[in-house]
Amino acid sequence: MDCLFCKIVSKEIPSSVVYEDDTVIAFLDINPVNIGHTLVVPKTHHEDLHALPDDLLAKVALEVKKIATAVKAGIDAEGINIEMNNGAVAGQIIPHAHIHIIPRYEDDGFTHWKGKRGYLGGEATDVSERIKSQLK
Ligand code: 5GP
Ligand code: ZN
Repeated sequence: MDCLFCKIVSKEIPSSVVYEDDTVIAFLDINPVNIGHTLVVPKTHHEDLHALPDDLLAKVALEVKKIATAVKAGIDAEGINIEMNNGAVAGQIIPHAHIHIIPRYEDDGFTHWKGKRGYLGGEATDVSERIKSQLK
């Protein structure tokens, strides 16, 4: 399979690895949002969050916590954003599931996404019902 992150996992393509075990590899993003921006990548190929097996996701989540704590301490970040893009429309460029660990600083110039608007009338009930119906 012609997957960039599979090639990083197999070391066919070099990367600045900060952590590796049987389940995940973590390496510096080549185009960091802030210095220390790290990607945590499950070693097996799954396209996105929805395709990740539950037991693998549970392990990845624990690795993300451990690595994010190390990133924060290692480069004296003031905060950390954890981000995962799922689907091209959501900004996913590499279709191999991965989680971004992004160091943040008081004056780094980034702002939170602005909310578009509030819900109108019974819209919030309708929307929450549509989501709840998928969780039964
Ligand atoms: P996505 O938009 O798919 O969530 O994020 C993909 C990330 O992979 C981007 O932040 C991009 O900078 C990073 N990236 C793309 N190609 C390479 C590469 O060859 N090496 C490394 N280390 N990161 C890469
Ligand atoms: Zn892959």
